[in-house]
Amino acid sequence: MNDEQLVEALVERVWQQVRPLAGPPVMQVELEASGRHVHVTREHADILFGKGVPLTSIADLSQPGQFVCRERIGVVGPKGEFGAVVILGPERAETQVEISATDALMLGVKPPVRLSGDLAGTPGIRLVGPAGEVELDHGVMVALRHIHMHPSYAERYGLRDRQQVSVRVAGERAVTFDNTVLRVSPNFATYMHIDYDEANACGFKKGMVGTILPQ
Ligand SMILES: [Zn+2]
Repeated sequence: MNDEQLVEALVERVWQQVRPLAGPPVMQVELEASGRHVHVTREHADILFGKGVPLTSIADLSQPGQFVCRERIGVVGPKGEFGAVVILGPERAETQVEISATDALMLGVKPPVRLSGDLAGTPGIRLVGPAGEVELDHGVMVALRHIHMHPSYAERYGLRDRQQVSVRVAGERAVTFDNTVLRVSPNFATYMHIDYDEANACGFKKGMVGTILPQ
């Protein structure tokens, strides 16, 4: 056992003794608000931006490997449209348009609330890029609020992948978000993701922290 392991073992032993005195654990998580955005396949990026034109990162997101692209596109629905919608990289296996319920009303589409990647039965929409257009036959969704969680956090508090929890946000517009899904992966940093409707409902400010409650 090296010094580092020794310190870790000591900390864990002290923690086990102190924990019962501290009452139930306070599980906190930082919130991030996601605006409307699109994930694209390479095939669709070829059409929208030009054959082989790479997505350009202008900022890293909190999730490792995920980034904001310089590229922007139009999203055109039957009743309305949004210009300059942000693309998030890297490229995905399926193109996915994530909007708020308010956005959906303005566009005139009726997307279901879904976890990322669960696109069966979702409506389509038209995407307009500088080089071409894509008529999606599916892929529009309102993101189901979720917590990206590193396994170290989940193990510490006895939480598991796909578990649903409530998250209490304090403040002037205090809200408890029920039906929040945990997504546990070593590829994740621990953050809760809400959309702009949810962000406005709870008076979101950058750095805001919520408390995870069993559900
Ligand atoms: Zn997320």
